[in-house]
Amino acid sequence: MADQHDVPRIALNSGYDIPQLGYGVFKVPPAETEKVVLEALELGYRHIDTAAIYGNEEGVGAAIAKSGIPRDEIFLTTKLWNDRQGGDEPRAALEESLTKLGVDYVDLYLIHWPAPANGTFVNAWKQLAALNEGEAIRSIGVSNFLVEHLEAIHGETGVLPAVNQIELHPAYQQRDVVAWCADHGVHIEAWGPLGQGKYDLFGVPAVHDAASAHDRTPAQVVLRWHIQKGNIVFPKSVKADRLRENFRIFDFALSDAEMSAIDAIDPGDGSGRVGAHPTELH
Ligand code: NAD
Repeated sequence: MADQHDVPRIALNSGYDIPQLGYGVFKVPPAETEKVVLEALELGYRHIDTAAIYGNEEGVGAAIAKSGIPRDEIFLTTKLWNDRQGGDEPRAALEESLTKLGVDYVDLYLIHWPAPANGTFVNAWKQLAALNEGEAIRSIGVSNFLVEHLEAIHGETGVLPAVNQIELHPAYQQRDVVAWCADHGVHIEAWGPLGQGKYDLFGVPAVHDAASAHDRTPAQVVLRWHIQKGNIVFPKSVKADRLRENFRIFDFALSDAEMSAIDAIDPGDGSGRVGAHPTELH
């Protein structure tokens, strides 16, 4: 069994580093969260991705407390919801999240969506940059930002996010956003790394063939593709066997040809998107 030391750490532009593999808890029911996060921590996961809107921060915090693992050995991310971006609301929202999580600080605090129709994401970014001067946040970042949103916050403040957490999987690679982030030293966190199970991993020959060649599952091949691309990932499952399977991706490597074949799955026309479009969610 792999352990936490097998997970590479990625240096962020904030000076902190992040385990490249974590566990995401979107849609994990609040009543189950403590149990599954505890299982993930026992399996060796040391990076948990939650959000205020997921409604399960208390469960995440309870699991961290119960695990007995020192706080500084766990990388914890939460996110500011769209209706808290205005005025000095981000400060209050952060305080609420810290209380629910039962921690003094989060490792990473993200603006969850740009929600451009609300006109408040630049304000929210200024607020996060100010909050980042204190002790309650180690790194700040954004999520679901397109190039136009990244340019707006950078242009207004000169402050770059540590990460941009976007929908990204072999069928939807957002190459323009990835290129902008690479040029500016912003790391990509890939949400929906397995396409949320909404496209048929097993049916795509490039994935299936690599899985057969390495005697791995298609999910392990897709996660390994992310790792070799440099993406930070935190696949979600509530099943212990899948949590274990998703952790076993550091003892094999895809060849250049296998990587290229998986790269080619996305035709670049946006047809593989499984989640909301960033300009449409408010
Ligand atoms: P995902 O791609 O991780 O897919 C989850 C689905 O894949 C689940 O149905 C699960 O049962 C299945 N799965 C997991 N492991 C598997 C395996 N080994 N074999 C077969 N199926 C497997 O999608 P996600 O949960 O949406 O994304 C991961 C995390 O990203 C979330 O939990 C959350 O933390 C984050 N996220 C962020 C945003 C955002 O707007 N910032 C949006 C969605 C998700």
